[in-house]
Amino acid sequence: MQSVPRPAEEIQRPAAVDDLLLESDPDMESAFERVTRMVTTQLHVPMSVFSVFDRTRQYFRWSHGIDVDGIPGKSSFCTHAILQDDVFVVPDARRHKDFHDDPLVTGPPWVAFYAGVPVRTGKRRKIGALCALDNRPRRFTAGMRQALLDLRDILESLIELRTLTVLDHLTRLYNRRHFDAMIDREWHRACRLSLPVALLTIDIDHFKAFNDAYGHQAGDECLRKVAETLKTECKRSGDIPFRTGGEEFAVLLTVTDGRQGAVEFADRLRQAVRDLAIPHKHSPAGIVTICIGVASTHSFPTDGRGFERFVRCSDEALYAAKRQGRDRVLARSFGVHTGCIPAESDRPSAPSGPR
Ligand code: GH3
Ligand code: MG
Ligand code: MG
Repeated sequence: MQSVPRPAEEIQRPAAVDDLLLESDPDMESAFERVTRMVTTQLHVPMSVFSVFDRTRQYFRWSHGIDVDGIPGKSSFCTHAILQDDVFVVPDARRHKDFHDDPLVTGPPWVAFYAGVPVRTGKRRKIGALCALDNRPRRFTAGMRQALLDLRDILESLIELRTLTVLDHLTRLYNRRHFDAMIDREWHRACRLSLPVALLTIDIDHFKAFNDAYGHQAGDECLRKVAETLKTECKRSGDIPFRTGGEEFAVLLTVTDGRQGAVEFADRLRQAVRDLAIPHKHSPAGIVTICIGVASTHSFPTDGRGFERFVRCSDEALYAAKRQGRDRVLARSFGVHTGCIPAESDRPSAPSGPR
């Protein structure tokens, strides 16, 4: 068997928010499922896979007619497909010198025929491959080729349109529009399952003065750095960062153990922004700092309503933090009967002072 070639640099996606688009976007999930289903119906094959590559490894994500969890990770079909610009075809893998002993061929799903084409974002960066599989050897016809290329183009357009719709252009974080959709959905899910959620509302301190002192371009660069820090710190897939306004951000914690964890996380974010040490001569700290309001739930309305009040509660915590000064985290507890209240033993985190 051929050793699995390493994807070239151009296809090793930087850990960008595009990963968010692929990992935590239910609308994209269902689009990917529909496209893979269309591959099987249009090419008349029993199985298809949209396989996405991350930084280090290949992983199969969306499929039709095949259980993705059962696919061995060591197969090199898709890696070969992604390295081409055209369609990569193996008409009979069992007789192919490089693939006869590939784990996809020698075990389930017992692949004989393979055709795959790279999938690109922005028509440039290759992120994965769309492929058609059969247990029987096949001749790859001109019609199959056209159908696979057409579906690949549709898939790329879907990804591009979704990127434009839900991502903020400057920071590549999710935008306000997606925040509104996501919080609604996550709130209903949390109410249904009675799971705690937390919302961090974040605002850069004295940012108008920063722009005035260093210029709008430096302001944009600062926003990008803060956004990058949020992305880096949101390590778990349930921690979702957004840019909700000019110099305002939010992080939705969909998997949280409650207020204490959320406050500790918020404080890590606050410190991580401090650690950027972006000079700010009009800030008391001498560097760029942020305030964070945390709202965490302790009880839900049974009918799923009320997420606007929850969002407002997080805003209230932020304004309270701003009133107390800058560079701090303040928390509120939100309950269906109690509303938004300062959490018991609530202590604003002490600013750590300039470094
Ligand atoms: P506070 O500490 O109370 O939050 O004060 P602030 O100056 O940060 O808040 P204010 O709302 O007065 O100012 C926000 C500034 O953010 C004003 C605006 O020029 C700047 N801003 C908003 N969007 C952008 C952007 O996309 N790029 C840049 N460079 N600046 C932006
Ligand atoms: Mg603001
Ligand atoms: Mg501000």
